[in-house]
Amino acid sequence: MMINRLIAAVLPYMPKRLVWIFSKKYISGENLADAIRESEKINAEGCVVTIDILGEFISRLEEAESFKIQYIEVIEQFSSRKIKGNFSVKPSMFGLLLDKEACYRIIREIVAVADKYNSFIRIDMEDSTCTDDEINIYNRLREEFPKRVGLVVQAYMRRTLDDVKNLMKSGTTTSPLNFRLCKGIYIEDKSIAFKGYQEVRDHFMEDLEFMLKNNIFVGIATHDRYLVEQSMLLIRRLNIPKEMYEFQMLYGVNPKLRKYIVEKGYTMRVYLPFGTQWFNYSTRRLKENPNMVWHILKALIIRG
Ligand SMILES: Cc1cc2nc3c(=O)[nH]c(=O)nc-3n(C[C@H](O)[C@H](O)[C@H](O)COP(=O)(O)OP(=O)(O)OC[C@H]3O[C@@H](n4cnc5c(N)ncnc54)[C@H](O)[C@@H]3O)c2cc1C
Repeated sequence: MMINRLIAAVLPYMPKRLVWIFSKKYISGENLADAIRESEKINAEGCVVTIDILGEFISRLEEAESFKIQYIEVIEQFSSRKIKGNFSVKPSMFGLLLDKEACYRIIREIVAVADKYNSFIRIDMEDSTCTDDEINIYNRLREEFPKRVGLVVQAYMRRTLDDVKNLMKSGTTTSPLNFRLCKGIYIEDKSIAFKGYQEVRDHFMEDLEFMLKNNIFVGIATHDRYLVEQSMLLIRRLNIPKEMYEFQMLYGVNPKLRKYIVEKGYTMRVYLPFGTQWFNYSTRRLKENPNMVWHILKALIIRG
């Protein structure tokens, strides 16, 4: 609805308290204890998690140090509690756009800690100003920590299949590729990104088929039922072993679909964000699904 879109667009300028009503659906909480509690619940439902500390596009490099310390603490806590899960990082949180080399060194430190605990770090893909650098960071880290890092690729980017093919060439046989495939969430120009709804789906399936046929691990990250069903058919047709893929969904989005996938016996990883910097993450989610505005208004009315 037009009115929902309008409200979603102005929401970033509204009081934080108002945005929080909407946000708490998508975020486990502000603290590590919240993330631990929700992860244990998700594990009990038969799913694994990937933990994301909220924050991105920092303006001072000192902030990166503090986020690094938080990530290391999360990895240690999750390992000691034997929570089934891994971790996702956004390089812009570690100063990608301020100092690439410093950003690389910080992420490397986090991956080294993950390595110590036999864990895994997924590098989220941000907007197109970050794509080349995020691919580079991944490529460097996968040589040193072959089984400990993965990257996200976005089906809406025209370049994605070429990026995947280039990454196949640049690695050695001891550094297998590991991707999360998603549609892509940032607003990009049509010169670099596919825009049509079905067009993006078609490229998603094309990328997925290429990866599965080339022995590349894929996290199939979508809430689009059509893509879920098509992926299941493809996996069956190609007879892909279970250890080469998993499904992934965002915390708070379509729990019914999540249950359906789990009940069919597929591995499901839930992307679980936590932290004090929930504002940007939430307003992006809201723009993605403006119908949520109705729920916010309803909550406001009920609260009186
Ligand atoms: C685990 C995971 C990790 C991701 N990581 C990245 C990343 O690193 N970089 C990146 O660019 N993007 C990332 N994304 C976001 C992704 O690119 C899409 O923008 C997002 O998943 C919406 O696309 P969709 O495939 O779910 O299809 P859509 O067609 O957008 O949605 C399918 C259905 O799900 C519902 N839905 C979608 N989003 C919401 C929502 N927020 N609330 C309620 N319902 C919703 C829609 O209403 C629709 O009915 C990630 C997504 C997931 C699931």
